[in-house]
Amino acid sequence: GCRMKAVVIATGDELVRGVHTDTNSGLIARRLATLSIECERFVVLGDDEEALSAELLRCVQLGRLAIVSGGLGPTLDDVTRAAFARACAVPLERHAECEARLRVLLEARGREYTASNARQADVPRGARVLPNERGTADGFAMQLGAALLVALPGPPRELQPILDEQVLPLAREHLQARGIAVPVVCDAVFRLSGLPEARFADLCGDWMERGRNPLVGVTASMGVLTATLRARGADEAEAQRLLAAHVTAFVER
Ligand code: AMP
Ligand code: MG
Repeated sequence: GCRMKAVVIATGDELVRGVHTDTNSGLIARRLATLSIECERFVVLGDDEEALSAELLRCVQLGRLAIVSGGLGPTLDDVTRAAFARACAVPLERHAECEARLRVLLEARGREYTASNARQADVPRGARVLPNERGTADGFAMQLGAALLVALPGPPRELQPILDEQVLPLAREHLQARGIAVPVVCDAVFRLSGLPEARFADLCGDWMERGRNPLVGVTASMGVLTATLRARGADEAEAQRLLAAHVTAFVER
């Protein structure tokens, strides 16, 4: 069908060394699900410009929505800007509004504006800046054909408002411009105890096949199954109708 897929990329040596855990990608995936954008995969990379630009290039070629978190700081290990510029084959340019905002923010914090800070005002040519009201690193977004590439700051408290207030509306616009309908997504979650997973699978039949609507997913923990039905509809009523019909049918099986 005509849907957009996303690749969510977390960057940071601390992540691949196992010192910190990536929590950004899960948050991003949950938010994208509200637009019915499915995450094809999560990628966790070190601070590696070449690896990141290769991953972004792949997203361009496949027309994916790519959302990168981290690597927008002022230090040399912050390589996200350079990786974007390389993947998009454009130069980095100092962005006047970013620079002005950065100067004001640093002044308010009683800090000096240095050449390292100025690096944070560099964005790939043609990118749209996503202002960060809680920190020094603005995000940015690049559209290349069907692909939309987004860079967001790593700290969750900075990332989350930019994601909700700027990236989701932008992604929605991108879908609409490409004639991709944005369905309403509704979930119904059930806990079933005493039912073996294989028996559950038999009862579900093809409801767990990729692309089904609703799609049934299941996880098992300590003898309890958690079943999730995820329905897409033109509106909430249609999605809820689909859920209700399947729940009724399941109970009758
Ligand atoms: P960075 O923008 O890469 O310098 O990251 C700044 C800070 O954001 C890191 O020190 C972490 O505390 C946090 N951070 C970065 N990436 C993630 C992530 N994937 N999940 C959770 N926190 C993160
Ligand atoms: Mg980092």
